Amino acid sequence: MRKKVIAGNWKMNMLPNEAIKFIEDFAPRVQNTSNEIILCVPYTNLFYSLLTSQNTNIKIGAQNMHWEEKGAYTGEISGQMLKSIGVEYVIIGHSERRAYFAENDETVNKKIKSALQNGLKPIVCVGESLEQREAGNQEEIVKNQVKLALEGITNNSLEQVIIAYEPIWAIGTGKTATSNDANEMIKTIRKEVASLYNEETAQKLIILYGGSVKSENSKELFSTSDIDGALVGGASLKPDEFAKICLSV
Ligand code: PEP
Repeated sequence: MRKKVIAGNWKMNMLPNEAIKFIEDFAPRVQNTSNEIILCVPYTNLFYSLLTSQNTNIKIGAQNMHWEEKGAYTGEISGQMLKSIGVEYVIIGHSERRAYFAENDETVNKKIKSALQNGLKPIVCVGESLEQREAGNQEEIVKNQVKLALEGITNNSLEQVIIAYEPIWAIGTGKTATSNDANEMIKTIRKEVASLYNEETAQKLIILYGGSVKSENSKELFSTSDIDGALVGGASLKPDEFAKICLSV
């Protein structure tokens, strides 16, 4: 049986004092769950969040990284740097990074490989735009994103990877995919992984849904056959609301 994973993506929100206050309020609320709880925070909050979440069941992740270890890449942060301070997870290829920072399937693949080499667990985002869905191409688009993202990743390494299906039209818009639509797409992703690797590997892979998840819809999403949890943006900024989502499995 796959573990449930709920990851918050704070995006470009929260100052260090706010992050500390959040974790102090949030941690006791989720202390008894066996679900994997992750907070992906801005770089400037990583260290404070790691310190404040010591002795809790909260894992800390970053929201991006560069694929090179070091060098003349002004403003970038490497996987090695993240690992060196104790970060465990990193979001790769979020649609906002693909849309505003020129990330593509090739850079996503390089970042996943570098994350794995540095002992980080990548949360890899895939998902179609509204135009692509309206044209009926969503399955082909998402399958192709998965294939290109995982190119050259071994069977063993895939155990460290989480995929997040995030239809772009549902992110920050208040529009959630129906639990049935999200589950069907996640089944499609699992089938694609089975064809790229094998059925056993596909059945072990954790695949999340993301897109306007809140406590009112999380229970239904989590009760489906293939949705293993959520990547949560806006609703992860409030400790009580995010805790409700984390406990709704
Ligand atoms: C996200 O940032 O990955 C996301 C799904 O955002 P929201 O929950 O706000 O739609």
